[in-house]
Amino acid sequence: MSKPAPPRFPLGLDRVQARGPAARPGADTLLRPQRPLQHMAAEQARQAAPSGLGLDSAAVRAHMVGRLRAGGLRCEPVLQALATVERHRFVDSALVPQAYEDTSLPIGLGQTISKPSVVGWMLALLFDGATARERGHLGRVLEIGTGCGYQAALLLALARSVVSIERLQPLHDKAAGHLAGLRQGSDLRLVFGDGMLGHAPRAPYDSIIAAAGGEQLPAAWLAQLAPGGRLVAPVQRAAGQRLVVVDHTPGGLVSQELEAVQFVPLKSGTA
Ligand code: SAH
Repeated sequence: MSKPAPPRFPLGLDRVQARGPAARPGADTLLRPQRPLQHMAAEQARQAAPSGLGLDSAAVRAHMVGRLRAGGLRCEPVLQALATVERHRFVDSALVPQAYEDTSLPIGLGQTISKPSVVGWMLALLFDGATARERGHLGRVLEIGTGCGYQAALLLALARSVVSIERLQPLHDKAAGHLAGLRQGSDLRLVFGDGMLGHAPRAPYDSIIAAAGGEQLPAAWLAQLAPGGRLVAPVQRAAGQRLVVVDHTPGGLVSQELEAVQFVPLKSGTA
């Protein structure tokens, strides 16, 4: 009996993209292996995950993680979270074929989900904060800019508790839907509100991460950063946005400015 060829990953991704939008590949195009593997994989997937997507997308994610590792990301807990959380479930169905590419993607209302390498880099920076290094997890986390909820799902895998704030009601609602299945048994609070004010009821936080950049770091974030805690956020400078890391050390707040980044603007109020 001839053995089927092993699957190549990412599964037809290049071909899917090369065909362009006219071909309108659906989710299945990317995530289903080519025949004759299709039946075998589909059966395994049925056993592995009720959705039928679990097995195949796990392989595509493993490939993505391999690329991120090769690109220099070395934080094992973050790599593991990236290998586990199903990014394709957080984007619109038309974008599923690109879900495991290293690209940012639109999530509606002019907002974007950052590319996996940037998300991984920011989470690894958080992991390098004093409290996280000591405890091996991110502790109590405040996320500003829930967006589609993808990064919140990663944070849930890495932290003890997560408060995530979004100022746009439709995105807050969408994220709540995306995260519904992951919330059971986990300490996740999704807040609809202005993240520039932080979230005082649960402060202080060991880790604060923002996915939107303003001209300054809001005072509330700095006030709500626990001793030993670390904040990672983009800040708008004259020459463009830069990623900023602030540590709450025994000697006070110590800030470092890192590479140039491109995030959506941090806006006040809700809509
Ligand atoms: N981490 C998100 C990325 C979302 S993009 C994800 O994984 O999808 C950044 C988000 O920040 C946008 O949804 C935007 O609406 C939100 N945002 C901008 N200013 C904000 C503010 N002051 N408070 C809360 N959210 C804000």
